[in-house]
Formats: sequence, C-alpha cells, structure tokens
Amino acid sequence: MINSVTGPVTVSPGEIWLSHEHILVDFIGADKIDPKRWNHDTVINKTLKYLEEIKSHNVKYFVDATPAYLGRDVLLLEKIAKSTGLTIITNTGFYGAVNNKYVPSLAFEKTAEELADIWINEYRNGIEGTSVKPGFIKISVDASETLDSIDQKLVKAAAITHLQTGLTIASHTGEAKALWPQLKILKEMNVSPNAFIWVHAQNEKDNNNYLRAAKEGCWISLDGLGWELEKHIEKILFAKEHKILDRILLSHDAGWYDPQKQVQAIKPYTNIFKQLYPELISKGFSKEEFNLLISRNPSKAFSISIKR
Ligand SMILES: [Zn+2]
Repeated sequence: MINSVTGPVTVSPGEIWLSHEHILVDFIGADKIDPKRWNHDTVINKTLKYLEEIKSHNVKYFVDATPAYLGRDVLLLEKIAKSTGLTIITNTGFYGAVNNKYVPSLAFEKTAEELADIWINEYRNGIEGTSVKPGFIKISVDASETLDSIDQKLVKAAAITHLQTGLTIASHTGEAKALWPQLKILKEMNVSPNAFIWVHAQNEKDNNNYLRAAKEGCWISLDGLGWELEKHIEKILFAKEHKILDRILLSHDAGWYDPQKQVQAIKPYTNIFKQLYPELISKGFSKEEFNLLISRNPSKAFSISIKR
C-alpha cells in the first residue's frame, strides 16, 4: 500500500515509477514563499505535455519531491493527477539543506517531537486544510560529517514520524559523509535503514560507499538522470557487478517550473526510457534487471509500513 494525492493505492507488480521528480519548485525562501506566486493554470499549461509524455512510457507513479516551503502545492498536484491519470505522491517534512534557507522559523523553536506532530497530523488529517495526505517524508541536510543541530532535529523528527505512520524517509543527502550520521540517528531511534532513501546518492565519488550503504540496508537513489547520463551508467553497472541492484532507485530530478523565471525551461522526464534503457540493454542488462530498478524497488521503498 502506498499513499497518493488522490488517496491510498495498492501497487501491482510491473508498474513503472519515477521516484524523484518535481513539477514546481520556488527558491524564494521559507520566509517569502506564498502559493499566490504561481497560477495553477499557467503551471499546468507549461508542464502538462511533459507529464503526458511519460504516460507513453507506461509510467504510473510520479513521486513529487518538492517539500513544504519550496513550493509544495497539493491542490495543484491533485488537479494534475486527476487530469493526467498519473498516480502522484507528495510528502511531509522540512528541507534543511542550503543553510536553512527553506526551513520555516517555527522549526528552530520547536522540538523534534513537536515537528513530528506537525508531520504526523498531515498524514492523519491532510495537508494545509485539504484532504490530501503525504506518501513519504522528505527531509534534507547540508553536506557534513556532523549534522548541524537543525538537521539532526529534522532526522529525529522524521524517525518519530516514521514510527507513528510507516512513511518512508527520503533525505536529500548527496555525498555519503552526510548519510552515516543520519543512519546513526535512525538506529538510535530504532528505525531500520530500510525505511530510508539516500537521495542524490550519485554525488558520492567513492563507489565503495554504495556497498556499505547497501549492507546497512538503506535505499540508494541515483536520481540525476535528467541532468547527467554517463556517471549514472557507470554506477548502475557497478551496482550490478556487486549485486546490489536490489537497493537502487532511479529517477531524473527533472521538471522544475520556477515561478521566478520569465522563461520556463522544463526538463523532460524521459531520459531513463529514451537514453538509459537502450544503453543498459546494450551493456548486457536484462529487461528484468531494468524492471527491478524502476518498478519493484520503488514499490517496496515507498510502501507504508513501520520498519524497525
Ligand atoms: Zn529533487
């Protein structure tokens, strides 16, 4: 079972996922963000053809990774889900990277328990007065071996929320050095790394850290395929060679309607199908291995269950 913006869904085997994408992102900052800064019809008008395009590649699940205070707009997502037929998944949580530019001031005053209460309430009762509920927890930390105090608080709040809701934690992390302190906090709080997605893992340079992460049991998200192909191919081949494909997620991190831009350059969500797939097949990948990455793994990673 997973949770989409139009309600809970039972996942069937073989259905295709994009596990980390964005429709809209607004980088104005937590103190200035306001949904009046964009117009639903304009955003839909600019992004719809890219969302329609992925349906021709049989994509069913579209995970929208834009967090609160960065442009999460669940009514927009609900409209798009209804008009396209895509199953769109949104999130709860706060984004701590970029030196706290997107962390609301309330997060500095409240405890981890109090932040978790806000997120748990979104899961139980809906986001911002709507009936739309999150399907995962999205947090983010600055790249550091010793997370700063707000980032530690976000990880703790995510762990508490997971234990109450079973929502998976996806954390914008990048290099592995910021992964280990997060996994340590989860372990201290009795949350399995299996409930955690290492987002932007392609930014790690030492592939051996993927083996360590797989051994710990977290999900490894190689999600920059809208931007860069060769590096991802090399890492996917490494994962196959070392038999950790069952921990890998793929996505584009594409889209990005940006209200601050006059001209919108939306990145398409299709490189996985148009470029990566033929490339992997030519390098000896089977269709089943590809399906593991874009179907079976994400359906497990986003399934809602408490993992201790
Ligand atoms: Zn992203």
